[in-house]
Amino acid sequence: LGSELDGEVAIVTGASSGIGEATAEALAARGASVVLAARRETELEALADRIEAQEGDALVVPTDVTEEEDIDALVEATLDEYGAIDILVNNAGVMLLEPVERADRENFRQMVEVNLLGLMNLTHAALPTMQEQGSGHIVNVSSTAGRRANANSSGYNATKFGVNAFTEALRQEVTTDGVRTTIIEPGAVDTELQEHIPDEKIKQRVEEGLLESMQPLESEDIARAITYAVSQPQHVNVNEMLIRPTDQQ
Ligand code: NDP
Repeated sequence: LGSELDGEVAIVTGASSGIGEATAEALAARGASVVLAARRETELEALADRIEAQEGDALVVPTDVTEEEDIDALVEATLDEYGAIDILVNNAGVMLLEPVERADRENFRQMVEVNLLGLMNLTHAALPTMQEQGSGHIVNVSSTAGRRANANSSGYNATKFGVNAFTEALRQEVTTDGVRTTIIEPGAVDTELQEHIPDEKIKQRVEEGLLESMQPLESEDIARAITYAVSQPQHVNVNEMLIRPTDQQ
């Protein structure tokens, strides 16, 4: 593989499975040192072992993005080890689909805290370093759900629309500091995401939809899109990428 990210330092949240895991592997394969953040330490360690077995470089920092101390500790650990943050992939997310009238408020709160507030806080924590460097790239994983709202997805839609709005406002603030921002909007990707849907009927429908009505994307398909965005020359800012399975309507 290429070496276009040699010497770059990338933090990836939600690196313990799915899109985050594939993205960390893809960035490491192109020479980036990757900082692996999520709650499940065993999965992160296994990924780090795989990356290191392929001559890559990884640092495991167990992180709950809903905890501000964890966010600050993640940035500190990265700077202690590498002295820079070139790429931040805010990917951690949960999709707890429920109709509003039957929704558990705890699920609303978790989605906002992980998908939106966690991303905002980690961006806030990493930004001063990028501004000092005069370069940096913040990749925020949104969704098609950040562009189109659908019944039973209200809370999730709210967080992903929020991610898009936050990212565009941030872009206008920091683009002249050399800091780039990319919004990634995947359609259906075959990961663990739907396993946590609390409403059994909706969960069944989503799982059937993934398996029967289309060939879903693989995490690697999104990792490739992210790799493309962060591998562009400094004067090129890929602001937004919408990627659906070809047969997803
Ligand atoms: P996964 O469930 O496989 O991955 C989600 C990741 O988020 C896990 O690594 C999980 O790690 C992490 N995470 C969850 N809660 C927290 C937390 N509190 N602190 C830190 N990390 C956390 O699903 P995907 O890979 O599909 O999801 C990745 C992103 O892609 C999400 O933002 C999702 O919304 C988005 N997306 C996914 C689509 C799909 O169809 N799969 C479509 C569009 C967007 P751990 O549990 O170890 O903390």
